[in-house]
Amino acid sequence: MKFSNLLIPTLKEAPNDATLPSHIYLIRGGFIQGVGSGLYNFLPLGKMVLDRVRNVVKEELDNAGAQEVSLGFVTPASLWVESGRFEKYGKELLRFKDRKDNDFVLGPTHEEMMVSLIKQTVKSYKQLPLNLYQINLKFRDEIRPRFGLMRGREFLMKDGYSFHNNEEDMKREFALMEETYKKIFTRLGLDFRVVEADSGAIGGTGSKEFMVLADSGEDTIVVCRSCDYGANIEAAKSMPYVQQEEAPQGSFAKFNTPDVKTIDELSSFFKVNPYYMVKTVAKKALYDGGKEEVVLFFLRGSDELQEIKAVNSVNANDLVDISSDELEQFGLEAGFLGPYNLSNNIKTVFDNSLKGAMNLICGANEKDYHYVGVDLKLDKDTIIDDIVSVKEGDKCIHCGGSLCYTKGIEVGHIFQLGTRYSQPLKAEFLDENGKIKPFVMGTYGIGVSRLLAAIIEQHHDEKGCIWNKESSPFDICVIVSNVKDEKQSEIALQIYNELKAKNINTLFDDRNERFGFKMKDYELIGVPNAVIVGKKAEEGIVELISRDGQAAREVNISNIIEAVTNIV
Ligand code: ATP
Ligand code: MG
Repeated sequence: MKFSNLLIPTLKEAPNDATLPSHIYLIRGGFIQGVGSGLYNFLPLGKMVLDRVRNVVKEELDNAGAQEVSLGFVTPASLWVESGRFEKYGKELLRFKDRKDNDFVLGPTHEEMMVSLIKQTVKSYKQLPLNLYQINLKFRDEIRPRFGLMRGREFLMKDGYSFHNNEEDMKREFALMEETYKKIFTRLGLDFRVVEADSGAIGGTGSKEFMVLADSGEDTIVVCRSCDYGANIEAAKSMPYVQQEEAPQGSFAKFNTPDVKTIDELSSFFKVNPYYMVKTVAKKALYDGGKEEVVLFFLRGSDELQEIKAVNSVNANDLVDISSDELEQFGLEAGFLGPYNLSNNIKTVFDNSLKGAMNLICGANEKDYHYVGVDLKLDKDTIIDDIVSVKEGDKCIHCGGSLCYTKGIEVGHIFQLGTRYSQPLKAEFLDENGKIKPFVMGTYGIGVSRLLAAIIEQHHDEKGCIWNKESSPFDICVIVSNVKDEKQSEIALQIYNELKAKNINTLFDDRNERFGFKMKDYELIGVPNAVIVGKKAEEGIVELISRDGQAAREVNISNIIEAVTNIV
């Protein structure tokens, strides 16, 4: 295609809200255009890249035996009510009514729709297994849409759902999808890690995320320096910590601690390691039907509460902060909270590391007082769970190696769902013995539009984007140095026509612009290779360069088509 005919509105400046390279270059390169918060138009270049990425995803999934379908974007709310997610999904779910006052949602994910499709079409185990997917728009009314395509409100997702006779077969497909996803992200040239994950609002048990390693990633992932263990911080585990420092000795007593409120203050007041203090974090837990309750989470003073683990420990939809005024209404004194003398309407959760813990210091639930010499005796009804964040330097549960943090962009997530949706939606089939059973399911997502951002976060320089062979909008770019030089233009046009005839997808920069200007656009757009037709063309020589700066060589015009064919 000729640059002069294409709509590629490259820009010198990025909008103010663009801070990440991917956001800046996708806008400046004329790939996308902002429409509103978290909403984007795809311009011709952006659509080309999106289609190419989508195609890699489709090819690998089709190869693995999955079948593409396309489900309605607008979904009847009744399905969501049946699955119990109409309320649980919270404010990200865009709900609306039609003219007849019927409730609908814009699909943020399609478990309900897909289960309903299968329920109407699959009756027997003979039709199983099945893996159906779509690559379609999703809408999530994200609280903080940002970073361009990274976190949009409207975005393109590949969502797949598999249906099985039994758990074992679902696990086989889950493993196949893990391998398929690895192929997809490898083809796209991404440096990624597969990590253990929390299953969030979608529910289910085993789940894994595919994280593209990038400093700008919004997810913190925990990785082992010695083995290949990796997990999202929301799900990461480590070996129980062994404290070397001796515990403070002393018998149980109430101690006056005027105005000593934080763990740090307490630690210097008693000269005791925070490990031996009980940290109490008060939160309000929100449940279905508007139900709320105050929850006190108890952990060691040296640990931090991990909010997702904490939400899961009480099966809540969300946890929100609670003010000291609100605490007072429950007879609680901020800064002096602890596990004793609590009224019945307050829920408590203890971290695993406090099970059987002794010689502790904790708040007395009374202003200016703490207890010392506390040996915790938790009865069997107490909720004891893993509610703390793994810390850097903690030991790996698999090999004892040292754990550290890194940042990742979540580009894929696969879940072992089981019967989480088929049961409430009564999606059942007849098994080999004529017994009625709910389908056992897996679900598999890829953030297709987010992938564009992830690719650029990993592959860019100070000049712009660097796409690879699989994602680039064009295979090659032919740039005429000086269009006013007839000979140059003629040679360039001939090269362009020959490449086109060989089905090589070529961008021909034929614009009547300065060479430097055209090179800047080439570097911004990021096609992996270019043929430059310049002064030496008259002598029969052109230059073949690579966008990553790794290669630049002079090639005889008679060999250029072959040279290009070899690299693309
Ligand atoms: P996140 O934790 O980033 O909000 P999620 O866990 O809610 O994502 P999933 O429900 O697992 O997302 O959706 C599948 C995939 O869709 C994700 O792995 C991600 O790549 C992509 N995705 C999710 N939310 C967005 C968004 N707001 N914008 C672009 N892509 C998204
Ligand atoms: Mg996810």
